[in-house]
Amino acid sequence: MTAHESRRVVILGGGLTGISAAVHLEAPWALFERDERLGGHARTDVTRGFHFDKTGHWLHLRDPYTKRLMAELLPDGWVTVERKARIFSHEALTRFPFQANLHGLPAEVVKECLVGFVEAWEKRGSHTPPTNFEEFIHQTMGRGIARHFMVPYNHKLWGVHPREITAEWCTRFVPVPKLEDVVAGAVGANPPEMGYNVSFIYPREGGIETMTRALTARMAGGEVHLRSSPEAIDWRARELSVGGERVPYRALIATIPMPELVRLLVDPPREVAEAGEKLRCTAVRYLNVATRSAPRADFHWIYVPEEKYPFYRVGIYTNAVPSMAPAGHGSLYVELSERGPMPRLEDLLPDTARALAAAGAINSPDDVLFAELKEIPYAYVVFDHHYYAAVSTITAWLEAHHILPRGRYGAWTYNAMEDCILAGRDAALNLGGELAA
Ligand SMILES: Cc1cc2nc3c(=O)[nH]c(=O)nc-3n(C[C@H](O)[C@H](O)[C@H](O)COP(=O)(O)OP(=O)(O)OC[C@H]3O[C@@H](n4cnc5c(N)ncnc54)[C@H](O)[C@@H]3O)c2cc1C
Repeated sequence: MTAHESRRVVILGGGLTGISAAVHLEAPWALFERDERLGGHARTDVTRGFHFDKTGHWLHLRDPYTKRLMAELLPDGWVTVERKARIFSHEALTRFPFQANLHGLPAEVVKECLVGFVEAWEKRGSHTPPTNFEEFIHQTMGRGIARHFMVPYNHKLWGVHPREITAEWCTRFVPVPKLEDVVAGAVGANPPEMGYNVSFIYPREGGIETMTRALTARMAGGEVHLRSSPEAIDWRARELSVGGERVPYRALIATIPMPELVRLLVDPPREVAEAGEKLRCTAVRYLNVATRSAPRADFHWIYVPEEKYPFYRVGIYTNAVPSMAPAGHGSLYVELSERGPMPRLEDLLPDTARALAAAGAINSPDDVLFAELKEIPYAYVVFDHHYYAAVSTITAWLEAHHILPRGRYGAWTYNAMEDCILAGRDAALNLGGELAA
């Protein structure tokens, strides 16, 4: 056995990807997490009995393995919820997705969207391939849907204009409706909910962290170091420096944000360091809102494309799972579109509460019992025109040096909790295979 082979696998970051890697590793491991508790984005904050995830974390499961795993983790601990997602625009609530549910919007808007879609449909196949997200939207959905939803909503969500986002990304992630679905949706003839994720599951009690804790309870065969974060990674020696100590590793499963990982490398090749500088991500500010009364609205979340509203998405936890707040109250998340200097809560709240009441998410502006302003520093990776080249340069080099970047921010991608659990599992199983070989 060589010196490297007697070492442990080190996991950097204790979100769902890191936890899942630890659960599935058959070799000894050590996990380093910067925060005081595990879970990363899949944690729940509790204030005065009101529960708030780091904005809505609903579980949409597709994979048979994760379905089985979740059933085992919390037997009888789940509720299944039929999704009620709406779009709030032109003072109307319409169904999701916007492009296939125009019914209920003002007649002029429906006409503009329908005519634009038909024009785009007639020209399909005759365009040069789109080079950015905005062109993709115009070519596939037409000018009306672009103007009334896709461009303004995505600008608010991503924090950059859709023309800065590569078309390569949207052809993978943005579904294009068929003409008959758009026409049926314009006359109100589509089924109430469409798409693959028409229902989701969620822990009966305690927010999403209940699931995270149940998964964490399965970790065995290793050590967890909380409030620990490496100062440097000596990739030649395969050692981390943590708190002044040197920690040798056999392989490193890195789930921390890719740009931070690159900055920790001691003397990386110039092309890797330069690619790391090109990675972009948006931060998201959000409000946890507790209400005195239960909201009268019945939706679980709404998408809000219009500029005049300071948020792009609002969700009502208690409409999905009433235990998220004390009986008779509501708990909500409000994802804010402004990304300038951090505002003060007291400056932000009066206008936001009025806008929430106007959108029907709370019963009146006075119904806010308390609110908390939070920030997610790494929220959405921006798939700009440098993205694919930069990520593939970094990933190829890391993998050749026993560092496996995994998870939403480790692999620098757009994904969901289920993908992260599977990515952690697969990293562990692949390493297990290599270690056994
Ligand atoms: C606003 C928002 C809403 C979302 N909603 C949903 C949803 O409804 N459904 C869904 O399935 N998914 C949702 N997601 C996606 C989901 O949160 C992620 O896919 C998943 O939680 C990412 O897990 P991860 O382990 O890869 O990363 P993280 O959760 O980010 O975990 C990484 C861990 O690394 C730690 N860390 C960072 N730097 C260091 C360091 N230098 N040293 C040590 N530790 C470090 C962090 O503290 C963290 O614990 C949402 C994401 C966002 C941002």
